[in-house]
Amino acid sequence: MNAETIAPPSQIIAGDCWRETADGRIELLAARCTACGTHHLPHVPVCASCSKEEFATAALGPRGTLYAYTIVRMPPPGYAGEYAVGYVDFPEGVRVFGQIRIVPEVPLASGIPVGLEIATLFKRPDATPVIGYRFVPTAGGSPR
Ligand SMILES: [Zn+2]
Repeated sequence: MNAETIAPPSQIIAGDCWRETADGRIELLAARCTACGTHHLPHVPVCASCSKEEFATAALGPRGTLYAYTIVRMPPPGYAGEYAVGYVDFPEGVRVFGQIRIVPEVPLASGIPVGLEIATLFKRPDATPVIGYRFVPTAGGSPR
């Protein structure tokens, strides 16, 4: 399954940067430089490490480590309530920004493991949901 089977492209954020695997996991898709192996996400036209311009798609993770976060306590219109955003480090050397689901049982802290899910990130003024990836604290286990 890919992003287009989940929702129309106009409702998806960064749909070229994630996909759902056959076993239902969500994975982020980086651009891996074919010359030096450096991963980039978001994708870039030129490798920042070696200046080459050829890339292959490479899945990250499946888990990352929360580097830093903040909680948005006064969300803008269209958001369901408080939410968190932050940076997650992946083993491939990529630091990715995104929303983080607040899970009451797993307090957010730098260094905790996170997985990924697809979620409605916010709704447009006409109530159309906007879909994208979101990090989920895992506490070393589920959720994926
Ligand atoms: Zn490179």
